[in-house]
Amino acid sequence: MQFREATPEERKIYYNEEWGGKRDLPDYVLHSLSMREFGFDHDGSGPNDRKNQFLTVDQLESYLRTKAPYSAYVSVAQYEEPSLMKGWLRAELAFDVDAKDLPAKRCCGQGQVCESCLEEARRVICMIGDVLRSDLGLRELRYSYSGRGFHLRVLDEAVQRLGSTARNEIVSYVVGCVLPADLSLALGYPRVFRRYAARILGRLDERTLQAEGIRRAAKILEHRDKIISSLESGRVEGLRELEGIGEQTLQSLLEVLRKLNSEQEDGRVTVDVRRILRLPSSLHSGVSMKCVEIRDIERFTLDQAVPKFVGERVGG
Ligand SMILES: [Zn+2]
Repeated sequence: MQFREATPEERKIYYNEEWGGKRDLPDYVLHSLSMREFGFDHDGSGPNDRKNQFLTVDQLESYLRTKAPYSAYVSVAQYEEPSLMKGWLRAELAFDVDAKDLPAKRCCGQGQVCESCLEEARRVICMIGDVLRSDLGLRELRYSYSGRGFHLRVLDEAVQRLGSTARNEIVSYVVGCVLPADLSLALGYPRVFRRYAARILGRLDERTLQAEGIRRAAKILEHRDKIISSLESGRVEGLRELEGIGEQTLQSLLEVLRKLNSEQEDGRVTVDVRRILRLPSSLHSGVSMKCVEIRDIERFTLDQAVPKFVGERVGG
């Protein structure tokens, strides 16, 4: 996949010939459209055109078909007066996993995306969804592809009125941002932490470990499979029996894994109750992909997000 930038003509083609308007917009946006703030990026310089309000879906449709913006965004929040961002009523709890910012990448380098890190981002957003469901009992989870990663919006009433501090605590839990007091507990938070840590350890190389200040990086990699299996199974006493890895090295490793866990998701998005996120069904012009709503995240593949005009480009 090339992820090439869309031209202004291609944007017009997308919004006028492919985009299905209200058929493609998620229910949760349609039902509260007039209470949401919309933002637009008209030239690729960022979403500077903020505080737009549409009273009807027809107005939004005609705006997008006429302007064919570079990018379109919608607020996670609902307001009494969205055009002023005043009278805040509620906001979805949102998670943003961006493939270009994933920690310990070994595929395409920081700041870029490829099919491999997009697949890793999909795995991470699936894990976040699992924890929200199994540990926090949340049910109304909506996924979308963001062009360079994935968004997850939680619509349950229980989270809609939470402030930033409570949202920050939820992120810490579901992404494994804190070292557990007892790493061995079979369920609850220690298990969440270990699952992410095991996955990240699988991707680490010697250079990254050394850059994070781990002196016995080679030893850790030598025992990597055993450490991963201890983390996955919860039989962490095995971690203290590894030849050449003392308590201090082990604690440093866990601290590095904790830090990398926290870099998997953009916590600034989750705590921001006035955030705008890419409008599901809109075009990500930077990479020429559709920000599609995803019904089945387990089976999502990138080809579901390729706009028709990409296949019709001369010279591929
Ligand atoms: Zn990559």
